[in-house]
Amino acid sequence: MTSPLGPAEIVVDLAAVRANARLLRETAGVPLIAVVKADAYGHGMVECARAAREGGAEWLATATVEEALRLREAGDEGPLLCWITAPGAPHAAAADAGIQVSAYDVAELDAMAVAFVDRAEPADIQLKVDTGLSRGGAPRSMWDEFFVRARAGELEGRWRVRGIWSHLACADEPDHPANDAQEAAFRDALDLAATHGLRPDLRHLANSAATILRPSARFDAVRCGIALYGLDPAPGEATDIGLVPAMTVRAPLAMVKMLAAGDGVSYGHRWVADRATTVGLVPVGYAEGIPRAASRPGAGDAAAHVMVAGKQRPLRGTVSMDQVMVDLGGDEPSTGSEVVLFGRPADGVPTAQDWAEACGTINYEIVTRIGGRMSRRYV
Ligand code: PLP
Repeated sequence: MTSPLGPAEIVVDLAAVRANARLLRETAGVPLIAVVKADAYGHGMVECARAAREGGAEWLATATVEEALRLREAGDEGPLLCWITAPGAPHAAAADAGIQVSAYDVAELDAMAVAFVDRAEPADIQLKVDTGLSRGGAPRSMWDEFFVRARAGELEGRWRVRGIWSHLACADEPDHPANDAQEAAFRDALDLAATHGLRPDLRHLANSAATILRPSARFDAVRCGIALYGLDPAPGEATDIGLVPAMTVRAPLAMVKMLAAGDGVSYGHRWVADRATTVGLVPVGYAEGIPRAASRPGAGDAAAHVMVAGKQRPLRGTVSMDQVMVDLGGDEPSTGSEVVLFGRPADGVPTAQDWAEACGTINYEIVTRIGGRMSRRYV
């Protein structure tokens, strides 16, 4: 795949991002809002944003205004949404850049009204309602007041409400009753908004899992993040639409050494060789986002594995800041051999999902945290 020598790196396949965007767009049958927040879940925001657009994403979304402004600085000129603001958020700058900020309560609408006071044209904004996630968004008890204020701002010429949306709590568990309840609550919110004169074109609810598993949640657009990067949004459910993981993490094998039975490895000697073996040093650690849980004491076969010289091998011993050891089982691959930490299942290597299971977390966390001193290369 790539040169066996060279520093540890994250290889991002932008063709996979393009293809995943295309697949999601086709599956949804409605506009795709490609979620590229948090540096595109660790894949590189600007490059992945461009690839997602090329694959047919009509919209991009970030969490913060600052991320969205960075996309504008990088030359993106298309529809752009963001949703995390705190008091003092740069609403005027966002509006000037054509970024649609999602207001999540009456106080934020009040702040927007102040920020937009000198604008010649109304700003385009969206409204976020809480339908049961109990996180961001206006709660049901506030909807009436929220919609009254939002409509008043339209009539005052401060803004135009372009979208109303919400976010699901349990989309990765399609049979969870919260999904029906949230979808019904979202329809209630839309009905109530309409009675106040708010009928925006863009109503959206579905994340990646709901886009694939819950057609009724697709409304006017879908917001996909994890699936854009080719990872399974709901492991164990019927999500196989042919997504391809975009990220491969590789490092050179830095050293091979022989161990005798009884030799302890790494801090705390939390793994002790039970037989004579060889171990290899992989020069990445928790500073690169390798979870310490990847090699828990006593994990046995459940430890995260890496691919070395054609074989999947378990990590052993405490993950340190800059390095981790792998049990090579007596083999002695040459220094500089490629170690693939995770990548595409089609390459026979461990996947980010495998790592998530080994670490007791979700694939989102594995890819979003990976980085540190590793360089990123796009192919
Ligand atoms: N919408 C919102 C509000 C989000 O916070 C996220 C990500 O967490 C997404 C959509 C995308 O979710 P997923 O990555 O599961 O597709």
